[in-house]
Amino acid sequence: MSATSWEKQKDNTFVFKMSQPIPSYLIALAVGDIVSADVGPRSRVWAEPCLIEAAKKEYDGVIEEFLTVGEKLFGPYVWGRYDILFMPPSFPFGGMENPCLTFVTPCLLAGDRSLVDVIIHEISHSWFGNLVTNATWGEFWLNEGFTMYAQRRISTEVYGSAYTCLEAATGRALLRQHMDNTGEDHPLNKLRVVIEPGVNPDDTYNETPYEKGYCFVSYLAHLVGDQNKFDAFLQAYVNQFKFQSITADDTLGFFLEYFPELKEKGVESIPGFEFDRWLNTPGWPPYLPDLSPGEQLMKPADELAELWAADSLNMEAIEAVDITAWRTYQLVYFLDQVLQKSPLPEGNVERLSNMYPKISKALNAELRLRWCQIVLKNNLEAEYSKVKDFLHSQVRPWAALCTLLVHVQFITHQYPQVLLCRAALHLSIHPSTHPSTHPPVCTDSGGCPDPGAGPCT
Ligand SMILES: [Zn+2]
Repeated sequence: MSATSWEKQKDNTFVFKMSQPIPSYLIALAVGDIVSADVGPRSRVWAEPCLIEAAKKEYDGVIEEFLTVGEKLFGPYVWGRYDILFMPPSFPFGGMENPCLTFVTPCLLAGDRSLVDVIIHEISHSWFGNLVTNATWGEFWLNEGFTMYAQRRISTEVYGSAYTCLEAATGRALLRQHMDNTGEDHPLNKLRVVIEPGVNPDDTYNETPYEKGYCFVSYLAHLVGDQNKFDAFLQAYVNQFKFQSITADDTLGFFLEYFPELKEKGVESIPGFEFDRWLNTPGWPPYLPDLSPGEQLMKPADELAELWAADSLNMEAIEAVDITAWRTYQLVYFLDQVLQKSPLPEGNVERLSNMYPKISKALNAELRLRWCQIVLKNNLEAEYSKVKDFLHSQVRPWAALCTLLVHVQFITHQYPQVLLCRAALHLSIHPSTHPSTHPPVCTDSGGCPDPGAGPCT
């Protein structure tokens, strides 16, 4: 359980003790054959015995650095331990930041540490979300927008601004896609949403609180104009509201109180950027942080994608580009460019596959997803088995198939289900749902055919 301490008493009775007050949604209990291994001075990984070695290898020594940077930026880590529990594959989220013990998907075990930084997001919740909590789910951005900002501050310190901006650009592209899919004016594309009868609370869990929230926090930092001063504000904010559940009015009121010169200037009502507009108007963020430092990593990826899209491949130029040091989001960016240019001229994707086993044979789920999309869009039948394996490794193969096909633009608004069924038959994916699937997954058909429906013809 996510708790400060626990002890086993007789008759398999376990007693847990949590020293700090937490909101009820953060209480979580996992039951199973679970073992642990130390990976840092205040961190352990927990998993079923078959996964524990892989978990230890992946995370040994990495968590402490993230925690230390977080403490430097946002103040003391108050929860004592930071342990990670690897859930079974049916766990439907990337991670859940239960204090003392974050629950994560086993997808993070890429085997080469290429996804370890995903944990920075969950660690950032130790200050934003777990320590200062949104009082209502209508203001979920207070948890997630601040956490995205904190995550990218830690990432900037550890990996530099170029890589962090590249990752943030990926997030911005997801927000664009979400708003295009739902329509910018959708009432849930506000930071302060009204969850009333008829609104499915699950639908409020989308890119808006994360990425638009990140833009709003970045806008507040932009108003301050000095990173050190804004970091100091974040520490003061955490200290002011720790162990409390608050509203956006508390947050923004404290911001203006902390920076009286900005209050005097009336920054809350600058036309077009009014705090009220940020909170209560749906649509694209009025302010976008500058992500141009990411261009130094995007440029070589753009150029390489261009080379692979040529009718006649310039292998000399391609071989001159060394991608061995490219980290996950630079590779993701490269693959997204290749996907956009796909289908590539005949034979190019086969050569690309052979040239970069780091990509085409990756166990990293972000890379696998993109590679499968490229395989489908280029009709690379020789690698359909990889798509099939990937889909079968997902607990919700139908939803995964939807994701794959939406991205490769197989689906039209007119006949999505027919096309899905055809693709599924082609790849031998059956519309079944595993009985042990987590309840929210069972209802998450994501616009796919009813999982209980008969065979598609
Ligand atoms: Zn989060």
